[in-house]
Amino acid sequence: MPSLEQLRFDNTYARLPAGFSVRVLPSPFQDAHLVSVSPQALRLLGLETSEARRPEFVEAFGGLRPLPGMEPMATVYAGHQFGVYVPRLGDGRALLLGEAVTPSGERWEVNLKGSGHTPFSRMGDGRAVLRSTVREYLCSEAMYGLGIPTTRALCIIGGREQVFREEVETGAMLVRLAPSHVRFGTFEYFHYTEQHEHVATLADYVLARHFPHLEGAKDRYARFFAEVVERTAQLVAQWQAVGFAHGVLNTDNMSILGLTLDYGPFGFLDDFEPGFICNHSDDFGRYAFDKQPRIALWNLACLGEALLSLISEEEAQTALQAFSPSFASHFLARMREKLGLRESRPEDRELLETLFAKMADARADYTRFFRRLGRFDTSEGARNELLRDQFLDMEGIDAWAAAYRTRLLAEGSVDAERRLRMDRINPKYVLRNYLAQTAITRAQEGDFREVDRLLEVLSRPFDEQPEHEASAAPPPAWGKHLSVSCSS
Ligand code: AMP
Ligand code: MG
Repeated sequence: MPSLEQLRFDNTYARLPAGFSVRVLPSPFQDAHLVSVSPQALRLLGLETSEARRPEFVEAFGGLRPLPGMEPMATVYAGHQFGVYVPRLGDGRALLLGEAVTPSGERWEVNLKGSGHTPFSRMGDGRAVLRSTVREYLCSEAMYGLGIPTTRALCIIGGREQVFREEVETGAMLVRLAPSHVRFGTFEYFHYTEQHEHVATLADYVLARHFPHLEGAKDRYARFFAEVVERTAQLVAQWQAVGFAHGVLNTDNMSILGLTLDYGPFGFLDDFEPGFICNHSDDFGRYAFDKQPRIALWNLACLGEALLSLISEEEAQTALQAFSPSFASHFLARMREKLGLRESRPEDRELLETLFAKMADARADYTRFFRRLGRFDTSEGARNELLRDQFLDMEGIDAWAAAYRTRLLAEGSVDAERRLRMDRINPKYVLRNYLAQTAITRAQEGDFREVDRLLEVLSRPFDEQPEHEASAAPPPAWGKHLSVSCSS
């Protein structure tokens, strides 16, 4: 395995025309230190765990002494924020340090978040706080563990620098990895500044690197847009199935690759509450949990608009029309798996909708409900107390359980085998808000062991981990409705 110094960089984004980015040097912490590192993300770069323990690691990824070949830059983008177009956003507190090429030829953009002022900082200080950094770090790696497309998190770098938000907080930096950080808003920027040749340049760049099968095709841009629609539909179907609310689905936080991008005030459902609003600043619930599919489509329409110099109105419409059916079919397929159903039958939708209504009535814990459902006993007369426990309306849930049992028996379902299958799709551990908060509180006191522990637990969310049983528990009273704002 190569050492840090042997990491190779080939910064393709830096080769794009001048208007795409600005060269900026990071403003490192003077007392930078490694807070936590993800061993799995390290392996993506082909680095051994021991490399992270070297002081040079923090110096390189914390921006103090960039590695040979890195060309730090801030990229420009725009975006619709809460429905309002903001003509210029860009990396205001992050830098693309470079694009690493691993020994196996994979390419990862290395992005440093919290790295200081850039020309896109507007009124901001260019910093990130430890609190939001821990949240993004843990959730990126947790989403990966859940099998949901996401940017990755390599490490957190700490410093003693203070950052002013609603109160004084500790600053930190996050090293993020992704094949590309291009956003819907990157296309919007070039479209609305009427630099249509750059819309094409960006599209060609993205196609060459991430959609090579489309290159050379006459209708490549239309097919590209159709694929982004499809990837986004798949992504949101996975969010809805696992109970994840992103919190700030502005078009600048939408990845062109269909990755979960820019973790802010996100939340996993504890109680099943379809209208769950995780972002305290989202007064009207624009980004409520159950609105995510609709908002994703709205965002895709913005992207379609931004591509109108490359595709026809009709091509854009056709692609957009595929979103809802595609989302519905991915979501239903995923939920069938969560219910342990192998066959697809017309009555499944009703079975699911009835269940959701009962779960919402009872405010059943979303993650725990499905995990327990894997233990459903189809034998004659079984009472399935583990299921009934979670509902006050016993008659209602008994009726549903009877229908569920009939449905399982109709496809010859075998309890033990189904349980194994369901345990691979219904996680035991998700990054509940109160878990993140506990790790943050300790980290703010200088103790990072809880961050490391959660990282490890959440990397295997489907495994029973008896020594970490407590982390599967629904929130205690204090952790139920923690307020998480956009401030980060
Ligand atoms: P976000 O809400 O983190 O997705 O950020 C939206 C926009 O605001 C992006 O252009 C960020 O770069 C910028 N931004 C957010 N926080 C800061 C900050 N503390 N300093 C400078 N720019 C920021
Ligand atoms: Mg953002």
